[in-house]
This record gives sequence, structure tokens and C-alpha cells, in this order.
Amino acid sequence: MKDFDYLEPESIAEASEMMLAHPDGSVMAGGTALMLALRQRMVTPSHIISLRRIRDLRGITYTPAEGLRIGALALHAEVARSPLVRQHAPMLADMASRLANPQVRNQGTIGGNLCYGDPATDPPSCLLALNADVVLRSAHGTRILKVDQFATDYFVTALEPGEIVSEIRIAPSTFDTGYHARFLRTAAEHRPLVNFAISLRKQGDVCADVRMVIGASTRVPTRLRKAEDLMKGKTVTARLAAEVAELGVSEIEPISDIRGDGSFRREMARTVCRRTIEDLFNPAGSAATSAA
Ligand SMILES: Cc1cc2nc3c(=O)[nH]c(=O)nc-3n(C[C@H](O)[C@H](O)[C@H](O)COP(=O)(O)OP(=O)(O)OC[C@H]3O[C@@H](n4cnc5c(N)ncnc54)[C@H](O)[C@@H]3O)c2cc1C
Repeated sequence: MKDFDYLEPESIAEASEMMLAHPDGSVMAGGTALMLALRQRMVTPSHIISLRRIRDLRGITYTPAEGLRIGALALHAEVARSPLVRQHAPMLADMASRLANPQVRNQGTIGGNLCYGDPATDPPSCLLALNADVVLRSAHGTRILKVDQFATDYFVTALEPGEIVSEIRIAPSTFDTGYHARFLRTAAEHRPLVNFAISLRKQGDVCADVRMVIGASTRVPTRLRKAEDLMKGKTVTARLAAEVAELGVSEIEPISDIRGDGSFRREMARTVCRRTIEDLFNPAGSAATSAA
């Protein structure tokens, strides 16, 4: 690891000015991703600009008008156990409780997760299914982006020089249920090969409204818009779940890497998508029904 200067700004504006003054510097939140990159000399910053003293990046709040606000420095473990998140976005709390391992959950932050842009992660697909906003601040202003505007490509985000993700916002939902499913290649792995997030409004067996996203197997989390249109307004049968999953995976471009090639990922995405829909509706003839 190369030597660097360590800076601890106390406000977003101060951090932003430091980032602009030291363009070869790196921002650090929990350091779980950055420390690995430093050790492997994938990055050799002149300065590390730690966000840990910036109080405005902390906390989880809820108001009926604006919904949830999750500070960028919220640890995965804090998201998992927050009563507010558990009440207003239970699929996010559930996802955070299963992410990685206890060490990463107690050191890594939700903001750092989004900003690293690593596709093999869980929050981006979950937040896209929840239609979350990502708030970016700098000394010169604020931008609010949707998750699919923020995560632009493989390890690439929309962050501009001097910008920090300050918080995630999730407006009060019109959906009444949701789930984030993840598939790991082996039980010993921490990172997902594929994940699938769904927000749903059900009327009995009918899908009144839905948002579906596949992540971890694609460069960026991908909304399954055609599959959503196929499912909306219909009674969900086992056959429809299979058709939705089939159409859904036709909308993604899976990546190939050390965890699996694109065709394997597509197969797993299809299966995770179908099974999750079946589990949520439990239609006649589904695996969930026949196993019961
Ligand atoms: C062993 C292991 C297993 C893992 N398994 C999973 C998994 O199963 N699922 C999953 O989702 N993730 C997984 N992860 C990834 C983990 O979630 C992230 O490493 C973590 O959330 C990053 O947060 P951090 O605070 O440590 O970020 P840091 O390492 O501090 O920063 C990461 C990057 O984001 C930038 N950054 C951080 N915060 C901000 C901000 N607020 N504004 C602007 N830029 C910022 C930094 O400059 C850096 O480039 C795993 C990681 C490890 C090491």
C-alpha cells in the first residue's frame, strides 16, 4: 500500500472542497471495498478523505410526507435492524440482514455499496425495485437521481468530481409487499451470482402492480419492464410465473466472470425470478404448492 495523507472533514461542503482540491484522492466510508483496492494497488490515492465525522450523512428517519431517509453512512447492520426500515421497507431490512457476512454488515455502508458500483451486490436491485432516490451533494449543490440513473455501468456511477452521496430516500410506497431473493453459487460464497427484487401490489391472486429488477448478474441492475407489463392485472398462475420469468430474462444481458458465465446466470435468474413469484402467490401447480 502506498503512503497517503488522511483527512477528516466535518461537513459535506468541506469534504467536497477537499475532493476538488485533491483530484487523486479517494473518499472513504466504511473502507471494506476501498481497503481491498488499496492493498491490491488498484488505487493509489494521494489522500484519503474519510466521511466518518460528517454527521449529516448519518441517521435513518421517516416522515409520512417524505418517507424514509437513510444516511449514506448507515451500516448494512443498521439498515437491517432499524425499526423504521423494517416497518416501511421490510424487503430492504431483510436484504441487509442477509448481505455478505457479519463483519461486512457491521463495517460497510449503504452509500459505499452504491458508490463502488460493483455489480455483485444486493442493495442496488432492492433500491431500484423500491423506486428509491439517491441524493448527491457537493459544495455547489444537490442532485437527486434514481438508482438506474446513478449506476451507469460496470463499476461506474454518475458521481461527478466533488460529489458525495448523502442519503437514500424511499417515498411512501403504493406497493403492499416485496421480496429480495439472492442466489449464491456455493453456500461458502458471500456475494450473489444473481439477485431478484420485486415490489408488488396484490388483490387476491391478481397482480395489481409490480416492479421487478434483476441484479448482480448484469452490469447494472435491470428493470424487467416487459415482464412487469405481462404480469400486471392478471391472476398469477404457475404458468404465468414461468412466462414472466422467461420474458424477464430476455430483457437482461448477463455478464460472464469468475462466478459464472452469462448462460448460467440467465438460467439462475430465470429460476430465482419464477420461484420468487410463485412463493409470493403460491398458485396451483407451483413448486411451492406441490411441496406443501
Ligand atoms: C468479503 C466481502 C463480501 C461482500 N459481500 C457482499 C454481498 O453479499 N452483497 C453486497 O451487496 N455487498 C457485498 N460486499 C460489498 C459491501 O457491501 C461493500 O464493500 C460495502 O457496502 C462498501 O461500503 P463501505 O462503506 O465499506 O465503502 P468504502 O470501501 O469506504 O468505499 C467504497 C467506494 O465508494 C466510495 N464512497 C463511499 N461512500 C461514499 C459516499 N457517501 N459518497 C461518494 N463516494 C463514496 C469510495 O470512494 C470508494 O470508491 C462484500 C464485501 C466484502 C469485502
